[in-house]
Amino acid sequence: AKNEGRNRFKYFSEELTRAARERIDIEIRLRQAIELGELRVFFQPQVDVETGEILAAEALVRWQTATGETVLPTRFIPIAEETGLITAIGNWVLRETCRQGREWLDAGLPPLRLAVNLSPQQFLHSDIRAEVTKTLRETGFPAHLLELELTESALMKREKEAIQILHNLHDLGVHLAIDDFGTGYSSLAYLKLLPLDVLKIDRSFIEDIPHHTDDMEITATIIAMAKNLRMRVIAEGVETAEQLAFLKTRQCDLYQGFLTSAPLCALEFSAFLAAYRRE
Ligand code: C2E
Ligand code: CA
Ligand code: CA
Ligand code: CA
Repeated sequence: AKNEGRNRFKYFSEELTRAARERIDIEIRLRQAIELGELRVFFQPQVDVETGEILAAEALVRWQTATGETVLPTRFIPIAEETGLITAIGNWVLRETCRQGREWLDAGLPPLRLAVNLSPQQFLHSDIRAEVTKTLRETGFPAHLLELELTESALMKREKEAIQILHNLHDLGVHLAIDDFGTGYSSLAYLKLLPLDVLKIDRSFIEDIPHHTDDMEITATIIAMAKNLRMRVIAEGVETAEQLAFLKTRQCDLYQGFLTSAPLCALEFSAFLAAYRRE
């Protein structure tokens, strides 16, 4: 029995070492990835629930390594957040999105709003207002077409500061969205204090529609609440026609999800748009 315990300990410590090693490996490779230009921005359409028109897109980062492997953000964003690399990555995503958006406008595409995710680090611990100002000026992308997505946790961390930063950003004319709504603890009273334009309902509430009546109730309540606060409301992770039909009955404004399209690289996205509009 003694031996068994020792073996189990050995097993756990090997597991831990392996996980730690993988983290360090990702961190080192990620530092280089930025310099090597291995990051890409993908775009996922945001669709008007009522008309089916594509009005906007969310920018989502991808890491394409030299070996051709695509690393998803869930594997490297948390590490980037802890090591502070997230600010460099986030600023790059912001710039690349605005550059691409300007290119599409210049090519004569109908104006789309582009939404970019801001991490808590980038939002609270970098001069985000200066970065956004500079990026908009240098790329020539219009402020009113840029939307910045913030999670509840970023907004709850240092409330007073967060509110001030939101106002600073809002004064630039960009739109502000609260992402993954419903997964944190923000109260209605708190939301009312914030200059937010958009509320994104977390995918976890959409997932089991129409099988979970509780989730349907919650989704309906969030939509009604957002409308009372005069916010645009987006459902994320919409995969089925039933989910879309439900959102339509509740007059949700926009949706995003595999039902329309997975995130696409810029080239695929503009081809998708052209084909979608011809339909
Ligand atoms: P998020 O902001 O909640 O982004 C939505 C995620 O849901 C994306 O995953 C998207 O591909 C996925 N998704 C979209 N539609 C569906 C659907 O119908 N079903 C399912 N199952 N999933 C769907 P992705 O691209 O892997 O990104 C994961 C997370 O990584 C994002 O969640 C966001 O928190 C973070 N992230 C991505 N790009 C950036 C970035 O540039 N900066 C920062 N700070 N975070 C980012
Ligand atoms: Ca998001
Ligand atoms: Ca989200
Ligand atoms: Ca999410």
